[in-house]
Order: sequence, then C-alpha cells, then structure tokens
Amino acid sequence: MVIVMAPGATDADIASIVGHIEAHNGQAFVSRGVMRTIIGVVGTEDVLETLDVGGLPGVAETMRITAPYKLVSAQNHDKRTTIRVGGVPIGPDTFTLIAGPCAVETPEQTLEAARMAKNAGATLLRGGAYKPRTSPYAFQGLGVAGLRILAEVREEVGLPVVTEVTDAADVEVVAEYADMLQIGTRNMQNFGLLQAVGRVGRPVMLKRGLTATYEEWLMAAEYVAQRGNLDIVLCERGVRSFEPAIRNMLDVSAVAMVQRQSHLPVIVDPSHAAGRRDLVVPLARAGIAAGADGVMVDVHPHPETALCDGAQALFGDALDELARAVATIPPLLGRTSAAHLAG
Ligand code: PEP
Ligand code: MN
Repeated sequence: MVIVMAPGATDADIASIVGHIEAHNGQAFVSRGVMRTIIGVVGTEDVLETLDVGGLPGVAETMRITAPYKLVSAQNHDKRTTIRVGGVPIGPDTFTLIAGPCAVETPEQTLEAARMAKNAGATLLRGGAYKPRTSPYAFQGLGVAGLRILAEVREEVGLPVVTEVTDAADVEVVAEYADMLQIGTRNMQNFGLLQAVGRVGRPVMLKRGLTATYEEWLMAAEYVAQRGNLDIVLCERGVRSFEPAIRNMLDVSAVAMVQRQSHLPVIVDPSHAAGRRDLVVPLARAGIAAGADGVMVDVHPHPETALCDGAQALFGDALDELARAVATIPPLLGRTSAAHLAG
C-alpha cells in the first residue's frame, strides 16, 4: 500500500503515520519527491487491512498498487512526474538535453566540452570521474580530482552536473560535488549502491542494464525510491543484441512502454547505444520522436585524443545537427525546451 501525503503535510504528520504503521507491525518507507511525499507500507494482508490511515492528518489518499514496483508505478498517477536537477526540469512537459564528455580528462577539455554542450542547447553537463571500464587497463577516470574539475566548470559555464558513481563507498563524496548521481548500466542491479544513492538525497539517473527487462529496471528504481528518494530519471542506453555492427541496440519501445508503466521521466542515451558518431543523431531523433523526456549525448573537443569513447563523441557538424533536432522536434510534440525555461 502507498500513502500519498498532502502537499502541506508536516514532518510531525509523517512521523505520526510512520508510528501508526509500525504499531500495527507494518514497515514504513518514506520517499520525498519534489512534488510530494509518499509512504510505502509493507506488511501482511492482515496488517494492510487493519491499517486505517485515511483520516489521519496530512494524508491525501491511500492506494493499493498491484504492480510489483509500488513507489515508481504509474498506477494512480494522473500525470508523470517532473524532477528538478539544480533547478533544471526533466519531465513530460519539457525536453532536456544533457551533454558533455564521456570522461573528465583535463580542466581544459572539460571546459571546452561544457561550452560545446551549452551552445548546443544543453542545460545539464555530463562527465565521468569514475569510469566503469570493461578492461582494468583502460583509463579509470580521475576520481575526486575529476569531481573538482566538474565543480569548477559548473561555476564557469553555469550547467548543473550529472556524474556516475560506481561504488557505495563513494556516494557521499560524489554527492558533495554533483547535482545528479548516475548509476551506469553495469551497476543497475548493484543493490547496495542503489540503496546508498537512495539515502543521499540527490536526484538519480538510473541507466538500464545491458540485458535488463523493463520490470527489472523498474525494480532497481524501486530500490532507490524505497530508501527515500523519488527523484529518479530512467535512461535507456541500448541493450545487448545479436548485431555486431552496432555496440548496443537502442530500444525505442522502452521509452513508450516504461512511460506507461512508471510515472518517472525516461530519457535516452544514443551515444552509448550507437558507439559510433554517425548513428548518434538518427537515434537521438528516434528517441525524441518516441516521447523521451530528454537525451544525453557525449561531446568532445578533440575526439581523436579522447581517453574514453572518442568514436561516439559529437563535435562540429554532427553536434549542430543534434542541436537542430533538439530545437525542432520536441515542440512538434508540445514540449518546451528546458533551455528556454533556463533562459
Ligand atoms: C556513461 O554514460 O559514461 C556510461 C559509462 O554509460 P553506460 O553505463 O550506459 O555504459
Ligand atoms: Mn562512455
């Protein structure tokens, strides 16, 4: 069962409901979103039946959710959720471009990439300081030094920062510097990490696992929500397929389907799906047309020297083409660009 609190509910109202649930041998999980606070109740059928919270102060409504993922389910949501990252909206009414280098390499490279991102209409900067690489011999990222570079570039360019965290032990330090924490495809079912980002109180971008079903992906989001954080954006980044010509296959169905199953925003990352620059813009267009709430792309000022994923990084004409797609397609679907809102 899920208890939705009224917008004006106080901390005391919430504490008293949690006390009531626990007194009836149920477990309560409080999740605070930008729009509202929700209390998930777990317990046996008996517990749920005897729990009568309808009239208690601060309660807007109670609902039984039949989907296995309770807090992130679309059930009983009239409208999908908008979340805010450093003031930038991601949700059904807007369209958000996130761009930046795959990895933070140097202050100059990150600053140049951030300027490219901003000129293309991006309102959030991406960049990895902790890189989950297939090979232990590949560049692993700059760690805390990379986080500091991101924070400096944020000051200089004015774009809030999205960056990956790969280990539960690093969640606090990454949250100190970043505006949004990214969970990468390889960690989608790292449940300890999901719970740690759920507790830290920063928006989370949850990338879909390489071979994860929609339900597994939403159950992973439920882990974050259940620890108290409802500010989650889902990112489709391509799934492993039988086709060797492309790195991964962007699953456009995931955008449409998961937006029906969950109230959370869904964006696409065509860069990590394609693995090659010339496919990024066509895939971005497909994702936008399918209704994605945003797109995240890799850009790099000098892809030929990039330490990570240079082959897929946009620059020059390809980046201009992406900027045109982002400026022209979302309005056809009734969306305002987040760049316009950011002014
Ligand atoms: C990334 O966005 O930098 C990244 C590593 O992506 P993924 O986890 O989707 O491979
Ligand atoms: Mn990458």
